[in-house]
Amino acid sequence: PEEKKLLLDSIRDIPDFPKPGILFKDITTLLNDAKAFNLLMDHLTERYSDANLDFVAGIESRGFIFGAALAAKLGIGFVPIRKKGKLPSTTIAEKYSLEYGVDEVEIHIDAFLNKEGARVLLIDDLIATGGTAEAAVKLINDAKAECVETCFLINLTFLGGVEKVKNLSPVYSVLEVI
Ligand code: 5GP
Repeated sequence: PEEKKLLLDSIRDIPDFPKPGILFKDITTLLNDAKAFNLLMDHLTERYSDANLDFVAGIESRGFIFGAALAAKLGIGFVPIRKKGKLPSTTIAEKYSLEYGVDEVEIHIDAFLNKEGARVLLIDDLIATGGTAEAAVKLINDAKAECVETCFLINLTFLGGVEKVKNLSPVYSVLEVI
């Protein structure tokens, strides 16, 4: 509880970003706070050190920061899931709907080194409507790996995003914002 408060207090609310009416959770202030960042990484390392994971996959772009740090701590590889058109080799793509229009995420087809049934943890900074994470779990499965858990620093529970993901993967969030 004390630790959660420290983490919550290290995250800043930015009104009207990226659009009017949106209250954006800014995690750069957590990254900048060595005590908070270390506390988070120690918590995640403890949670996943006995999970027998093969890879951590992170969603562009803030999922890269937490995911890469965690993979290094766990001594396993990191796999980026990126917005369309950014990955250089052969990819698999998955579309998902936004409030207006569609977006697409990609993964390298050989990201899990053709290790069938590789055990993967998916991580991102925040779950809102859940569309991004749902598409990312599908990509992991399409690349023939198993998404053992999907982990978020922040769950905006009022948007109900977990409902979209939980039938594909168990979901864990460090902080819930109601
Ligand atoms: P969703 O697909 O769940 O609606 O949106 C989640 C994605 O949008 C995540 O990749 C997350 O990084 C980003 N996102 C949406 N809202 C916020 C926010 O308030 N703060 C941060 N840091 N990321 C957000």
